Amino acid sequence: MKFSQIPSRQRGLITKGIRDSFKRDARYKRCLTNARIEVPRYKKDGGLMKVPNVYFTCNHCSRQGKQGEIQVDHIEPVIRTDEILADFTLDEYASRVFNGQVQVLCKDCHTVKSKSENKDRRAFKKSLK
Ligand SMILES: [Zn+2]
Repeated sequence: MKFSQIPSRQRGLITKGIRDSFKRDARYKRCLTNARIEVPRYKKDGGLMKVPNVYFTCNHCSRQGKQGEIQVDHIEPVIRTDEILADFTLDEYASRVFNGQVQVLCKDCHTVKSKSENKDRRAFKKSLK
C-alpha cells in the first residue's frame, strides 16, 4: 500500500510508529553505543561512584550531550528532499528507516540539518507546481 492511499492525517501516525519501532532495532542501538562515553563520578571522599555519567558525542560538532540532548539522525533523509512520501509504500518507507545509515547529532546540529532539508523540500515541491 502506498502512502497516497492513506488519509494524510494518518500518515504521520504511521511514520511515527515505524520510526519508534526502529528505536528498538540493533542498528539504532549500535549507533548510540558507538557514540557513548562514560565519565566516572566521584564522591566527596574521593571514592568512585557506581554509576558514571553517560554522554554521547555529536558526529558533526563533537559536543557531548546526555541522552535527552542528542538524537539519532538518518544521514541521508528517509525521504530525500527530492522525493514525496505519498509515492512510497509502507514497506519501502520501513526499509529506508531500518536500513539507512544513522548518526548521533546534538539537538542544535540536528535542527540546522533538518531546517536545511525542509528548505530544500519546499523548493522541490514548488518546482513541481
Ligand atoms: Zn552537534
